[in-house]
Amino acid sequence: MSRIGFIGLGMMGQPMAHLLHAAGHPLVVRDVNAEATRRFVAGHAGALAASDAASFSDCDIVLTMLPNSDIVDAVLAELAPHLKAGASVIEMSSADPSRTRALAARLAEHDVSLIDAPVSGGVKKAVAGTLAIMVGGDPAVHERLKPVLEVMGKQITHVGPVGSGHALKALNNYVSAAALIATAEAIHAGAAFGIDPATIVDVINASTGKNNTTENKAHQFMLNGAFNSGFSLALQAKDVGIAASLGPALGVPMTLAQKVSDLTTLASGKLGPAADHTELYSFAAKP
Ligand code: NAD
Repeated sequence: MSRIGFIGLGMMGQPMAHLLHAAGHPLVVRDVNAEATRRFVAGHAGALAASDAASFSDCDIVLTMLPNSDIVDAVLAELAPHLKAGASVIEMSSADPSRTRALAARLAEHDVSLIDAPVSGGVKKAVAGTLAIMVGGDPAVHERLKPVLEVMGKQITHVGPVGSGHALKALNNYVSAAALIATAEAIHAGAAFGIDPATIVDVINASTGKNNTTENKAHQFMLNGAFNSGFSLALQAKDVGIAASLGPALGVPMTLAQKVSDLTTLASGKLGPAADHTELYSFAAKP
């Protein structure tokens, strides 16, 4: 069993690390939130809390599940000189693909390989170990690390060279956010017309407008006012911003992506860092 350093025990990282522990991997864990680290170690026999960067020097794999590229870069810059030659990083956060490529090159100078392996499916699938995982990087490294990914995910797809997983993840989240906003606007317009919001969602689910928001978010987190899906609006705005930036960088017109990015960024700024992304439903009624 590979010895795994797991960094980032948040909404997603905690259940993912839990599954790796249950599969028998020795774990060294770290989170800037000391209470998250303490709680994990207390509940998982044998798991160690990292005291410093040198705590990861025996790890075969370091797995990161962090908010963004700024944090991933800082954490791995600190760790890189301490990692053993031949170790691998599995970068599972949703991050900026061009920065991931640069990071992989810097790690290679320490004889450390990196694959990007962001996930889709939210907290529910993280708990169940059924995440979709999109992998960028050397196919041979991916094959070697696949058994570890299989503990956390069901549909694991190698999508291209390093950075490709992060690019595809951002694009997926753009499509998802666009559908969420379109769904919210349609519900508000239909309700203003006098149609019951629950009926609107049910009819769309039987029609061609059906999407992940109508199926898995509208009744569950939006119409009931729960707004507790476990995926923050700030993280969603980050992802859509990355997707929108790919347009100019690649010379591809992404007009709608820029609008969705502007809207999610505006909403995130107004609703604050604690807002769940499903709160876009209320925001869409009164931007
Ligand atoms: P989260 O905010 O709940 O967790 C992030 C964790 O990282 C926190 O526990 C935080 O304390 C920790 N952290 C921050 N800076 C750190 C540092 N310097 N060192 C160590 N730990 C640090 O976020 P999340 O919802 O778990 O998301 C994690 C990543 O997964 C993000 O990139 C997000 O975009 C992506 N993602 C989230 C979901 C979801 O549904 N929540 C789904 C797919 C992908």
